Amino acid sequence: MSTSHPLGISFEFFPPNTDVGREKLIGVRDALAARAPRFFSVTYGAGGSTQGRTLSTVCQVREAGITTAPHLSCIGSEKAQLRDLLVQYQEEGIDSLVALRGDLPSGMGGIGELRYANELVEFIRTETGDHFEIAVAAYPESHPQAPSFERDLENFARKVKAGANLAITQYFFSADAYFHFVDRARALGVEAPIVPGIMPITNYTKLARFSDACGAEIPRWIRKQLEAYGDDSEAIAGFGAEVVSRLCQRLLEGGAPGLHFYTLNQADPCLRILDNLSSPLAAR
Ligand code: FAD
Repeated sequence: MSTSHPLGISFEFFPPNTDVGREKLIGVRDALAARAPRFFSVTYGAGGSTQGRTLSTVCQVREAGITTAPHLSCIGSEKAQLRDLLVQYQEEGIDSLVALRGDLPSGMGGIGELRYANELVEFIRTETGDHFEIAVAAYPESHPQAPSFERDLENFARKVKAGANLAITQYFFSADAYFHFVDRARALGVEAPIVPGIMPITNYTKLARFSDACGAEIPRWIRKQLEAYGDDSEAIAGFGAEVVSRLCQRLLEGGAPGLHFYTLNQADPCLRILDNLSSPLAAR
C-alpha cells in the first residue's frame, strides 16, 4: 500500500433483500476482497429499517477476512435502541462504524432523540469510549438541506470534533470541489482524513435520480454524453469508467488519502476503475 494513500481502498455494499442478491454478493465480495481493501461497509436503512439485514450482511461479507463496518443512522431512533445495537455490535466483534444522521422517509414516525450526526458520534463515544473507529459523511458540494456551504462546513467540523476518526464524502465528479472542501475543512482545524466517495457510472437514469436527491452535481458535459448513449449500456460503462478513473487519478495525485467505492453491490465497475489507475492502490 502506498504510504501517500494510507487509507487505501474501501468498498460499500447495501444489504440485499433476496436470496439471489445475497448469493451474488458473495462473488462480489470475493472479487473485491482480492484487491486488499482496508475495509468493507454496509449501509443501514432509515429509522433502523434494515437493522437485522445490515448486521447479517456485515457477518456475511467479513467472512472474506476484511474488517467490515456497519453504517448506523440516528434519525427516528431512541437512545435505548441505539445503545442496544452498539452492545450487540461490540459482542459481535465489530469495531468500526459509519455514523450518520440518515433521512426519515415521509410518514415514518418522529425524529427520535438524536437530531444530527454530531450528536450520534458524541453518544457513541459516551457509551463505548474508543472501542469503535468512527467514520462520518462529508459533502464537498454541500448537503442538500444545508442553509449555506459555510454552515455545512461548520457542522461537518463539529461532527468530526465530536470524535470521528475519518470522513467519507458523498460522491462528486469535480476534483476541485473535493480539494476546496478539504482545504476549507483543514482551515477549520479538521485533521481527520477525508476520503473521497467514488460512484462508478453504469446507468444514467439511476445516477441522475440519485444525484438529484443527494445534491451531487453531474457536470453538463457528462450528462450530455450519457444522454447521447441512450440504452447502450456498454458505451455508458466504457465512458463512465474513463471519466471516473481520471477523477480518481487526479484525486490520488492531489493527495486524497484513499478511495471509498459505492459499489451498488457490483464488482466489475470498481475493478475496471482500479485497473485503470497507475497508483499502487490497485493491489492485485
Ligand atoms: P448530518 O451531518 O447530521 O447533517 C445533516 C444536515 O444537518 C446538514 O445539512 C448539516 O449541515 C446539518 N447539521 C448537521 N449538524 C447540525 C447541527 N448540530 N445543527 C444544525 N444543523 C446541523 N443514509 C442512510 O440512510 N443509510 C446509510 O447507510 C447511509 N450511508 C451514507 C454513507 C456516506 C459516506 C454518505 C456520504 C451518506 C450516507 N447516507 C446514508 C446518506 C445520509 O444519511 C444523508 O446524506 C443524510 O441526509 C445526512 O446524514 P449526515 O450524517 O451527513 O447528517
